[in-house]
Amino acid sequence: MADYDLIIIGSGPAGRAAAIQSGKLRRKVLVVDRKDRMGGVSVHTGTIPSKTLRETVLNLSGWRERSFYGRSYRVKEDIGADDLKARLHMTLEHEVDVLEHQFNRNHVDTLHGFARFTGPNEIEVATEADETRRITGDKFLIATGTRTYRPDYVPFNGRTVLDSDEFLDMAEIPRSLAVVGAGVIGVEYATMFSALDVRVTLIEPRDTFLDFIDTALMSDFTHQIKENGVDLRLGSKVEKIEDNGGHVEISLDNGRHVRAEMMLFAAGRMGATEKLGLEAVGLETDHRGRLTVDRKSYQTGVPHIYAAGDVIGHPSLASTSLQQGRVAACHALDTPTLPESPWFPYGIYSVPEISTCGMSEEEMQERGIPYEVGVARFRETSRGHIMGLEHGMLKMLVSLKTRRVLGVQIVGEGATELIHIAQAVLNLKGTVDYFVQNTFNYPTLAEAYRIAGLDAFNRMPIPEEYKVPKGKKGL
Ligand SMILES: Cc1cc2nc3c(=O)[nH]c(=O)nc-3n(C[C@H](O)[C@H](O)[C@H](O)COP(=O)(O)OP(=O)(O)OC[C@H]3O[C@@H](n4cnc5c(N)ncnc54)[C@H](O)[C@@H]3O)c2cc1C
Repeated sequence: MADYDLIIIGSGPAGRAAAIQSGKLRRKVLVVDRKDRMGGVSVHTGTIPSKTLRETVLNLSGWRERSFYGRSYRVKEDIGADDLKARLHMTLEHEVDVLEHQFNRNHVDTLHGFARFTGPNEIEVATEADETRRITGDKFLIATGTRTYRPDYVPFNGRTVLDSDEFLDMAEIPRSLAVVGAGVIGVEYATMFSALDVRVTLIEPRDTFLDFIDTALMSDFTHQIKENGVDLRLGSKVEKIEDNGGHVEISLDNGRHVRAEMMLFAAGRMGATEKLGLEAVGLETDHRGRLTVDRKSYQTGVPHIYAAGDVIGHPSLASTSLQQGRVAACHALDTPTLPESPWFPYGIYSVPEISTCGMSEEEMQERGIPYEVGVARFRETSRGHIMGLEHGMLKMLVSLKTRRVLGVQIVGEGATELIHIAQAVLNLKGTVDYFVQNTFNYPTLAEAYRIAGLDAFNRMPIPEEYKVPKGKKGL
């Protein structure tokens, strides 16, 4: 008899969801995490801290009110690092309390220490007190997530040259910030600090960024962040980074230099699989430390060992990790569950927000699907006027053949909440007609769906069954 039915390594969203699901199934489950508090990157250095920071920045800077009261309007003058950290600590404490309570309530055992496999059904956990414990399990879930990528040419020092895990520990808010890497994390932090009136330069080696987002939306977004003061340097490869005492000097391959008080290096993450003892169970990773799994069951090549969350790569989101962890636990514990729906949303919590679900216009074209587009601008909605929104748009892509909505892309206030309407319609195979037939709360930003739906509908052929037969009169 093994000590546990399921041993989970890592307490981020994937590990957390798997543990709670196992507890609900009344199975013996253990979660091991090397950190002294449970929650993973998501709670301690990633999702929750960055989103709390965003909320604090928008509130203290008075960002949302500036279209009414002017660009110099502030709720609080002289915002300091301590102002940002105060709310952060309160939120994180609360998150960890809720998580630990959930584990207790569901009889999930926890252990703090670094885990590594010592055999197909055994791990060794090195605890902080320099003790080691050997524990056996029937099944395992690797939910170890990722660590920051720290190449040798970057002189990280924890003060002025930081990675994304260290960034929120900054002692002072810099007057200027260079962000290397225009992926989701880089773009989020660059735009948040720009909203705090920090002079931000965003550097990206490629000529484009956030390529999975619709081009029309990206040009709207790029226009807005530039207008907000972000100096965007695309097609600029970093050649050298020097910490010159008072500032960081970044040399680019086009001969230009960027100087800033602080630099955030946000160019990628690696699967946290080092020293996990994978050789003891016969598993290998790719060059970025990631594991390959069957995407329906989350089994690795060794059937009793599962992997979920960022350690299996794309899409590397807390939201998808939660779902994957739960499905993996059900499969490992021989419990039937529903298959995952095909469409999930992407949320980018930049300023302004972006959120998408389904296909972009470029994808529709690549697949050769004939389509119509419907667009709504937030400033066309009454809610938008009330909120003083000058920007923001919703774009809807509709198949001409089936009338089904195949993609929605939103940039602007509330995008990450609004997108779930699109997600429901897409996964329930709904058509553009839904948005024409249904009444929406008024005034809301959600009304943008109705406007975009009507925009597409009015340009599409009217189905025979909707036409009023000739000669038939109204009442
Ligand atoms: C700055 C930032 C912002 C983000 N914003 C969002 C967002 O807005 N929305 C979103 O959906 N996603 C966001 N993400 C991504 C999200 O944080 C990750 O997708 C998510 O945390 C992955 O969860 P996970 O379960 O794979 O593990 P993680 O959260 O990465 O946790 C893994 C845990 O495993 C532990 N561990 C690792 N190795 C071992 C070992 N050998 N023994 C014991 N324990 C070990 C680690 O200590 C860690 O606690 C963001 C990420 C970052 C960095």
